Amino acid sequence: MKIAIPRETRENETRVAAVPETVKKFVGLGAEVAVQSGAGDGASFPDAAYETAGATIAKTFAATLKGADIVLKILRPSEAEVKSFVKGQMLFCTMSPHSDRALTDALAEKGVEAFAMEFMPRISRAQSMDVLSSQANLAGYKAVIEAANAYGRAMPQMMTAAGTIAPAKVFIMGVGVAGLQAIATARRLGAIVSATDVRPATEEQVASLGAKFIAVKNEEFEQAQTAGGYAKEMSDDYKKQQAELVAGHIAKQDMVITTALIPGRKAPILVTKEMVASMKPGSILVDLAVEQGGNVEGAKFGETVVTDNGVTILGFANLPGRLTADASALYARNHFNFLSPFFKDGAFALDEEDELVKGVRLTRDGAVIHPQLTGEKG
Ligand code: NAD
Repeated sequence: MKIAIPRETRENETRVAAVPETVKKFVGLGAEVAVQSGAGDGASFPDAAYETAGATIAKTFAATLKGADIVLKILRPSEAEVKSFVKGQMLFCTMSPHSDRALTDALAEKGVEAFAMEFMPRISRAQSMDVLSSQANLAGYKAVIEAANAYGRAMPQMMTAAGTIAPAKVFIMGVGVAGLQAIATARRLGAIVSATDVRPATEEQVASLGAKFIAVKNEEFEQAQTAGGYAKEMSDDYKKQQAELVAGHIAKQDMVITTALIPGRKAPILVTKEMVASMKPGSILVDLAVEQGGNVEGAKFGETVVTDNGVTILGFANLPGRLTADASALYARNHFNFLSPFFKDGAFALDEEDELVKGVRLTRDGAVIHPQLTGEKG
């Protein structure tokens, strides 16, 4: 059983799918591990650390994959990289099949068994395998740190001999894993924090972190959570009421951090151009949903936009990648926690009846089989 850890090649990707700690554990289970030279450089894990952990170092992507049964990556391979895969290899990574269906199809055609880690079912048993949570938690923290860095004022209240500095007002929109960590981080930095979400369960969570909860609490709000724990897409009428409620609030904020996502769909617009225009010069917006279309009108993926009224909109590409060592270590543990139960006496066999395996498997024997994709045109 050989596991390959190639170097990530997509733009802005600094993370690596295995760290020396998880390599050592895989070797302990009887696996051979090949790491592409330089794979951990971006995350401060040099080749030598992988070698000490028991891995061999391979020069190229193709050489790393040669003879591998399992390929662990952070992001889906490029079209060119698909050529290096062979039939029967298992690939575990974030696959984004809704936004790049062609790549999933190409892997299926090659006979690669592709598994989308972001489809991990959200049940208690799978918490330690959940890449969306492990990365969103870091993104929520880093969003506040980046906002504080870009802000020309201090976050906490400061009583100084030269006068008092008022605490920053921070509004978090979307209180999932990233939003909760953003609230906690902004509170630790001394800000006055408020938050909104469409799922009723979040009200108590926001209060328990010492922040104020703001939301349109109608019948639709009571039903807004799916059985999987995610938000549903809200009606136009709800969105209108929500916009009216938050418009006045946003105008008074120093920082707004948006994290609202709907699985498999474009992110909802929560902050309109008019709302951005209503904010004070020097205010900061961080749009964590920018990769999925954005929650803030005018946010640009991978760019910093400064509006005419002096508001900065930060649209980071890969925020977890800005905490690359931690992000890699957590992602690597997610991989290990998912795969390790399937090792027995040095051999690896997935339990195809396991609901987690069923949840993440995209392709099988040359076909795309995931229920979320079989209805979509290939
Ligand atoms: P997410 O990244 O899909 O979305 C972020 C937040 O945006 C969510 O809280 C969502 O309700 C909110 N949102 C969506 N549309 C909105 C709108 N129009 N206005 C305001 N907010 C909006 O969510 P997530 O961070 O992945 O977490 C979703 C839920 O899943 C949470 O309850 C989390 O605790 C739960 N969860 C469970 C497990 C597990 O049990 N294994 C693991 C991770 C998360």
